[in-house]
Formats: sequence, structure tokens, C-alpha cells
Amino acid sequence: MKKTIAMLPGDGIGKEVMDGAKEILKAIGEQFHHTFTFQYGKIGGEALDHQNDPLPEETLALCKNSDAVLLGAVGGPKWESNSPEKRPEKGLLRLRKDMKLHANIRPVKAYESLADHSPFKKEYVENVDMVIVRELTGGLYFGKPSERQHAGGKESAVDTLFYSKEEVDRIIRTAFEMAKGRKMKVTSVDKANVLESSRMWRETAEEIAKEYPDIELEHMLVDNAAMQLIKNPARFDVIVTENMFGDILSDEASVLTGSLGMLPSASLSEEGLHLYEPVHGSAPDIAGKNLANPLAMILSAAMMLRQSFGMEAEAEAVENAVKRVLDGGKLTPDLAVKGKTILSTVEMVEEVKAVLAEEDAILSIMEAYA
Ligand code: NAD
Repeated sequence: MKKTIAMLPGDGIGKEVMDGAKEILKAIGEQFHHTFTFQYGKIGGEALDHQNDPLPEETLALCKNSDAVLLGAVGGPKWESNSPEKRPEKGLLRLRKDMKLHANIRPVKAYESLADHSPFKKEYVENVDMVIVRELTGGLYFGKPSERQHAGGKESAVDTLFYSKEEVDRIIRTAFEMAKGRKMKVTSVDKANVLESSRMWRETAEEIAKEYPDIELEHMLVDNAAMQLIKNPARFDVIVTENMFGDILSDEASVLTGSLGMLPSASLSEEGLHLYEPVHGSAPDIAGKNLANPLAMILSAAMMLRQSFGMEAEAEAVENAVKRVLDGGKLTPDLAVKGKTILSTVEMVEEVKAVLAEEDAILSIMEAYA
């Protein structure tokens, strides 16, 4: 297969982890006989420095002419006092809007070898393997009016929680599709005891569930979901929820696994061009020091292989290689514990590549004797 990937490293550790993902994709391309073309574009602070625009037109055009977009991270202290329109984050927000990304997908998986890093007891987090599907374009963050009001000498403020039936239908369908290849369970999170939008959400989930008779649907109130994520996180498979609930719950869930440097994400568009990025930011405190954990970026690239290119075996090869490196006790400083080998960013990428090459060699020998 031939695929063109838009590479937007951005700022801080974005560049370092993106270099790592490229190395891994090149290795996968060679092993599985694919041609990946990497097209680089500027976004965020780097784009501001060069073009005074956090999302130059040419970057957007480059993304639209690609099969998928990989993004590192944007932002940093250098641009913190910029005006709102000239902030690095504005570039990412505009990109998400222009690409019409409606669903944010965040897998949260506990690795046995990293159990000591979780703030929770081992028995609570083992077997955690869930995906949070968050609606990205509607809800309280975008509803109008959203403003400060002054009437009769009194000040007040209003935000509006609006959802069209189509928006709810689209995100719940995404969650059911996701559950198909997993444990076949969808937990729809709402606040149906209070909110009308949640009651429509719940009805819509029930309607869609009829089209997926093999998939179990449960409803959960958001306050209970926040508790269950701590008390019994392994009970979840796919969680689907509206924009603000998803924003909060996905950050809560991300703490389960121990390090931001391990968490990948995907943002999907109905038009088929998706964006993949690590959950972490540009980490200015460690940028340029070869200390960043590149695994969240590498796992984001694996999500791209599976979701955008339909390359299941290739995605699995990357995920298994990451697991094997961690199981072997080799870790970047953010995961460091006594008795383990500490690797730099570049060394971690080399380790993942070495495991991929080893697996490939074993496969070739098995094929030769088959
Ligand atoms: P951050 O995620 O950049 O860093 C938080 C902490 O986690 C830091 O101590 C950092 O060193 C550590 N960390 C993050 N990723 C790591 C990795 N891969 N390996 C090892 N350690 C890692 O969040 P922050 O400090 O709040 O934000 C820094 C900048 O990043 C800000 O300008 C913020 O606006 C931006 N940001 C961007 C995005 C994005 O591009 N999507 C997301 C979050 C924050």
C-alpha cells in the first residue's frame, strides 16, 4: 500500500517524539512492504515564529492532501503572553475545526510492567483496557448563547448545552463500531435524571443498540461513572459521552495508567481524514533533552495504521513491540523505578525497532519452514 502522512511535529518534545514515530513507521513500511510518504508542515509556536500564523494555509492544504495526520504537540512559555489569535493552541483548534473532527478516541490500557506507576493499587488497575469516545463538536462548549449578561443592574452568565439528534446518533454509532472489535460492551454516560439533552442521548443510544444486537449497552449517570472509574475501572470497555463529560472523564481515566507519556489518541472525521496525537503537551521542562517518552506518539501512529489504513497486523506489531520493551524492564525517565534500565528518547525508539526486527526475523524463519 502507498500512504501519505502529514507530519506536524509542533513544539517542544513534539519534534523528538515525532522523529521516533517516523522511525517506527519506516520500519513497519519495510517489513510489511508499504510505502509511506512523510510530508512535513508547521503548526503552533513554530508556525508563528516563521509565518506569524499558528496554522498556515499551506499546512492545512498539506493535511487535506494526505491520508492521515500525525501531530506532536503545540505550545510553550515563549508564546504564553501572545494575544488569543496568536497563540499556538489556536492553530490546533482551527485544524480540528477545519478537519471536522467530531469524535475523540482515547484508549486507556494498563501495562502490567508499569503497575508500580499507577497511583492506584495494582489489583484495581490490572486488566484495565478501555476506550473513551468523546463527542467533540457540540454540547456546552459550543452552544449559543454563551455570554455574560447585564440586566437590571445585575450580572449573570449563560452557557448552552445543545445537541442535534444527528450529532448524538453519529457519536454513539462510532462507539458501537469501536466495541465490535473489542469486548462488545458500550457504556453510555449521561445525566438523564436532570438534563433533557441527556434524555435524548439515552433514547438515541437505545435506538442504535437495536442495530447491534450482539453488543451490550448500559447507561450510567456521569457522577456514578466518575466513581466507577476509580473503584472498578476494569469493568469498562467502550465509554461514550458528550463533550464536557468526556473532557473530564478522559483526564480522570488517564491517571490510571501512570504516565502521560503512554497515552495515544485519535480524532475522527466523517470525511475520513483523521488526526492522531499523543495526549500530552509539549513538555517544555524536558524539551530538547532526549528525555521524552516517545511511546504515546508511537502508539498514536499504531492507531493510525489500524483506523486510517486498515493495517491491523502492522498496528498489532507496533503495540506488541512496545509491550515487550516495557516487559523487559526498559523505561524512559518518566516511568523510572529502581532496578529498571533507563533509556533516552532515541534509545527507546531503537529498542522498539529492535523488537520489531526480531519479530520479523522469527516470522521469516517460520515462513521458510512452513
Ligand atoms: P505537558 O503534557 O506538556 O506536561 C506535563 C508534565 O508531563 C510535564 O512534567 C512533562 O515533562 C511530562 N510529560 C508530558 N509528556 C511527556 C512525555 N512524552 N514523556 C515524559 N514526560 C512527559 O502539559 P503542560 O506542562 O501543562 O503544558 C505544556 C505546554 O503544552 C503548554 O503550552 C500547553 O498549552 C501545551 N499543551 C499542548 C497540548 C497539545 O498540543 N495537544 C496538550 C496539552 C498541553
